Amino acid sequence: MVQLATLAGSYIKTRWDATFIKNRRHLQRVQKRRLQRLLNWLPAGNYYARYKNQPWNTIPYSDKSVWMGNFNRINTLGLDFDQARDFARHQENTRDFSEEIKPGVSVGLSSGTSGNQGVFVTTQREQSLWAGAVLGKLLPGLPKGHQKIAFFMRANNNLYESTSSAKLTFKFFDLMAPMAENLAALRDFEATVLVGPPAMLLEIVRYYQDQNLELPFKKIISVAETLEPEDQDWLSQATNQPIHQVYQATEGFLATTCAYGTLHMNEDNLLVEKDVLDEEQRLFAPVITDFYRHSQPLIRYRLNDILQERATPCPCGSPYLALDRIIGREDDVLEFTTVGGDRRQVFPDFLRKVVLEADNQIQNYQILQKQDRSLQVALDDAAYQDAVAQSFADFFEKQGLEPLSVSFVPYHYDFKMGKRRKIVRER
Ligand SMILES: [Zn+2]
Repeated sequence: MVQLATLAGSYIKTRWDATFIKNRRHLQRVQKRRLQRLLNWLPAGNYYARYKNQPWNTIPYSDKSVWMGNFNRINTLGLDFDQARDFARHQENTRDFSEEIKPGVSVGLSSGTSGNQGVFVTTQREQSLWAGAVLGKLLPGLPKGHQKIAFFMRANNNLYESTSSAKLTFKFFDLMAPMAENLAALRDFEATVLVGPPAMLLEIVRYYQDQNLELPFKKIISVAETLEPEDQDWLSQATNQPIHQVYQATEGFLATTCAYGTLHMNEDNLLVEKDVLDEEQRLFAPVITDFYRHSQPLIRYRLNDILQERATPCPCGSPYLALDRIIGREDDVLEFTTVGGDRRQVFPDFLRKVVLEADNQIQNYQILQKQDRSLQVALDDAAYQDAVAQSFADFFEKQGLEPLSVSFVPYHYDFKMGKRRKIVRER
């Protein structure tokens, strides 16, 4: 269950931060204080405790492998890595999430490549902080009155339940439930705020269109996965409203859109450092410190996401770092060979454009680069194959790349498959 007092406290704190933190200098002072409080909180013997009395910027960067390798000393709940992983695997396999590894504690697996699967721990307190922060950032601006929030999530977490107060009713929907059942339940619920991963939002809006139903949603928020620009555009046009976005990774809640639709990093809860990947294109991998994650502290942790910083200040005036977009994961950077024989890496974003340039009506697709580097493109309409093949041929020529073989398969996606990734590199 969500702890309502914690949720409310987090909501109020989020609103307070948004009101009073007005510039970078003030933000940096607040961040320093929050970071020191986290370091002081760490129990003796914790992996990070030795840095308590040192300048924070002497703490080395870590990444998933370091973090997982030191799981037993990093988590503060006394959990053992093998035990926690086996517990989470068992839950995934049986689809039964009713048990908890410890009271109030959930474990989940990251959907990373198999050899590098991560174990993530969250507590009820952290889930409640998260929900309060999401609402604090995204609910303001709604018309007054009782809001009914429909929340679609993959049921890998037993902390989400439905809950109700005078102003809000939450209802949790399981992505694993049959689609028709979910759609009927959603229709009955008459949600005013719809929260879900992009693939589900597309299904829902198409359903309302097919049934000729009026859309009851005053706010639509995409969570859990990257909202691709073409999906955002389609949803926004079909629903006649901006589509809001929560950008999160298994590691945490990283950014949300402001009233202008710009993604801002959650710098009230995170210290964000930039590992610059490409200065000219303003690309970086974020190195984050989460001030409030106590179960499994995240301190100077480098994510393998590639983000693009916004070129111009956002008109909303927020001091929080603004992004143009989320480019994708470093794991999904595809590999090519130039005609001169050099290796060339291509960011997922470019490949996306190759498909959409063939025909901007293409909505469901996936590009898979196989281990032999050949490309396999899944399309839900075979009629686009020739245009997509031509678009790839043009791309190879323009970029001076050795042409790769491009094959086609029918597109298929099911929520049980986990995240819907559009560009994937096979490992
Ligand atoms: Zn903004």
